[in-house]
Amino acid sequence: MTESWPLALLDWYRAHARCLPWRNPPGQTLPADPDWPYRVWLSEIMLQQTTVEAATPYFQHFTRRWPSVVALAAADDAQVMQAWAGLGYYARARNLLACARAVVAEHGGRFPGSEAALRALPGIGDYTAAAVAAFGFGQDAVVIDGNVERVTSRMFAISQPLPAARPAIRAALAPNVPPGQAGDFAQGIMDLARRVCTPRSPRCLACPIAAACAARAAGNPEDFPVKAAKKPRPLRHGTAWWIEAGGQVLTMVRPARGLLGGMRALPSCDWAGPDAEPPIVGSWQALGVVRHGFTHFELELAVARLALPAPLPLDLPGAAWLAMDDLAGLPTVFQKAARLGLARQPGQTGAKEAA
Ligand code: SF4
Repeated sequence: MTESWPLALLDWYRAHARCLPWRNPPGQTLPADPDWPYRVWLSEIMLQQTTVEAATPYFQHFTRRWPSVVALAAADDAQVMQAWAGLGYYARARNLLACARAVVAEHGGRFPGSEAALRALPGIGDYTAAAVAAFGFGQDAVVIDGNVERVTSRMFAISQPLPAARPAIRAALAPNVPPGQAGDFAQGIMDLARRVCTPRSPRCLACPIAAACAARAAGNPEDFPVKAAKKPRPLRHGTAWWIEAGGQVLTMVRPARGLLGGMRALPSCDWAGPDAEPPIVGSWQALGVVRHGFTHFELELAVARLALPAPLPLDLPGAAWLAMDDLAGLPTVFQKAARLGLARQPGQTGAKEAA
């Protein structure tokens, strides 16, 4: 290799960059659009815990419906939560609104450009602050996500296990960020991580920076990054209540604080155990159990069905009867539960997925 590895990486990125709706093409000046950082921020929040493929239609829908951070800040909470349904990790949606409103209240409707000011906003951590600074403002930030960690730990054969290795990864990478090109550099590593330096069977023979890679030279790239042993997530149990009447299903709005807070859902217990009391006395029928993974625990949710002759009048705040073909806005765990209820309907095989 006659040029340094960061320059080789930038050359490769110019030829192979993925075209994404929130990404500036390589080597080009950032768009003058004042809402460009908003698009970058929105995409980064959506991409936390979500693939590009899953996040893209949500990004397009959000930017059509709320084309600026000012428009998003003025949006109705319930509409934003509903538009987010299906992306999971709903605390992100609540933070999304809190952050948009803080940008309007504290920064006049324009995202600040410094990492420190970005990090002070709701829902923005070290990675997102660096990403918005680099991709949204062209700052020389060091952007490190899981993909960048993998490539860097291989390039420098960092043997300390994650997450303790993070300072060493940053210290190894930071001096290599080319001034004025931090955004392209980080996105180049991310694309390389996805296409070439994959978690298993990295394609070192096709890698543009192989000549500088310590793990490749040692012949053991798959041994990096070294990971600390994971603790198993605890298993929790609960019950969701499918109460139907005349082609409609009873739904509630979950309490604003807590898991899936503010989301419309099937009535459910507190997930503290499998034997919760049903909310209505009646002839309940067990429909089965669905399993769903949350960040800190796995949930086994039993689903029980009660068919009423007619919808009950509702006086609880947030309670509503929804048509059975209108359940796409439920969070994923409740869509899984709803499929069991819908499977009992004549001519139905499953819930319509959220877009
Ligand atoms: S040489 Fe192999 S291990 Fe090293 S960065 Fe390239 S693909 Fe990854």
